[in-house]
Amino acid sequence: MTDDPSPERFGPGVMEGSSLSPNLTDTPRAAPTLPEEFSLCTRELAMDAACYHALFEHALDALIHIDASGIITAWNPQAERLFGWPAAASVGKPLADLVIPPRHQAAFFECLSHFLATRHGAAVDRRFETSGLHRDGSEFPVEVTVTVVPMSEGIAFSAIVRDTTHQKQIESDLRLAEHRLGAIIANAPVIVFAAAPGGVISWIQGKALEAIGVRSAEVIGRSIHDVFPNDPQIQDILRRGFQGDTSPKIVELAGQAFEVHQLPHRDDNGCITAIVGVATNVTEHRRAAEELRVTAEALEKRNAELLRSNLELDEFAHIVAHDLKEPLRGMQTYASVLIDAYGDIVDTAGRSRLEALRQLSDRLNQQLEALLEYSRAGSVELAMRESDLNQVVNRALFALGFALQDRRVAVRIPRPLPAARCDPHRVNEVYINLISNAIKYNDKPEKWIEIGWYEREPAVTDVAETPAAGFPSAFDQCGSTKVAADLMPPVFYVRDNGIGIEPQHLGAVFRVFKRLPGSDEYGSGSGMGLTIVKKIVERHGGRVWVESTHKEGSTFFFTLEPGMDNGGAGHDQRQTLSNPPDR
Ligand code: ADP
Repeated sequence: MTDDPSPERFGPGVMEGSSLSPNLTDTPRAAPTLPEEFSLCTRELAMDAACYHALFEHALDALIHIDASGIITAWNPQAERLFGWPAAASVGKPLADLVIPPRHQAAFFECLSHFLATRHGAAVDRRFETSGLHRDGSEFPVEVTVTVVPMSEGIAFSAIVRDTTHQKQIESDLRLAEHRLGAIIANAPVIVFAAAPGGVISWIQGKALEAIGVRSAEVIGRSIHDVFPNDPQIQDILRRGFQGDTSPKIVELAGQAFEVHQLPHRDDNGCITAIVGVATNVTEHRRAAEELRVTAEALEKRNAELLRSNLELDEFAHIVAHDLKEPLRGMQTYASVLIDAYGDIVDTAGRSRLEALRQLSDRLNQQLEALLEYSRAGSVELAMRESDLNQVVNRALFALGFALQDRRVAVRIPRPLPAARCDPHRVNEVYINLISNAIKYNDKPEKWIEIGWYEREPAVTDVAETPAAGFPSAFDQCGSTKVAADLMPPVFYVRDNGIGIEPQHLGAVFRVFKRLPGSDEYGSGSGMGLTIVKKIVERHGGRVWVESTHKEGSTFFFTLEPGMDNGGAGHDQRQTLSNPPDR
């Protein structure tokens, strides 16, 4: 090797005259003389050496020469970079000490002596993979090719060493990606496939293959037309796929429905060379969707029927109440006339019976009035608008001002109420009914009523997680307070420290004309107030329920919009949870 073997040093004449650049002209030349021949060979040799040197210096792989005893005789710049040893520190050293990990050294020496003895070796003249040892002690994967260099005084070896760390990483990433993909495909209800032009299946895999009785190994390499003969849907999909159509299609196979998405694979010229597709088994999904549709339709029908029968019921209640009022008015008048005109004539027993007749007809009148109000609550159109509930409550308190004063009931409103979208007149009726009950059914010397609300936001979660006294237990019974907080609309309440309701009666208080035993002691009533409350609240899409501790007090809760969990259909569920039915 020369120190400066740049090919340029040989000049163009060398190239022209060298055997690498034969003279192709037909002009015959005189045979060279011996000195000329010698000079030519020298030049050729110099040029070969220059070429080799350039290769050695600039090769992208490490080039290492060793002699027959394993001592390094040449070490190119790439070997320096790869193993961290400079040429000066490597040449003359045993190769094994420098670059072969200790665990491979014995095998190296065995190979070397075997080759020297037999001139045969498994590691010679072929590429093999092993590990290299860096100067810093780290190991890395390498690919090595060893060739034998015959020398005048024996043999030497030349090795080309390539660092395969990056390649190995890519291979490992690829294997991982394949593994992941395989796991998905093996467990998802899909079939993934690739087809070449003409429909030859080059790849097909997926759990959904079981559903159509196809085994991947049996169909790969076969035409899709053989596997699914005379199936126009498959042929259509294939044809469209090779035309570049990527729109999804539904295909029925072996009684299963598949949604097929396909993507064309194009070569550098944009020609479609294959299609890759995913077919998802949507049979269950479609069945569920169909069931849902049928259920929704039935529900809608039932709702419409319910609505119609409710309207009819309201209409009926209205007609009955209205028509009964006429003869009742006559009975009331006659009862009064009898008492006024004949009260002195009849004896005490007769007089008290006449009094009872008047009271009963008054009560009947009251009930008919309540029935009329109830049917009005069901039929009157709601005038929904954003309403300030503070004003609504104040109007109710004003209307009940006399009773509050008379019974010395303190009213507290812990914090202002929010605005709500509702019919303020109807919600005013709700508050009047609840507050008047709270005034009426109270036997405590210091009576109070609390009018408040809970919001659905974090405050609700906080309260629900650490329930405050009287907070709706239904929140806890929904399973998760977080879910409850997210799904519930604001909850309004009217709380009192009154007589309370026994647990077995909780479910009954909202029933038509239902008055609990002993209610008369606290004042008269039709037993319709809470029924009307329920009707109004439900017409707003809300729910109403009660929690109570007998002899300690009650809290009536209501919402004015449906919760997102069940679109308002949860009313009955919630009422059942909080208020077990009273039979
Ligand atoms: P009314 O008050 O006219 O009897 P309601 O429908 O308003 O009719 O109430 C039904 C029954 O529920 C009442 O008779 C009473 O027994 C009971 N009730 C209602 N509100 C309360 C309350 N705040 N405290 C205790 N019991 C109540």
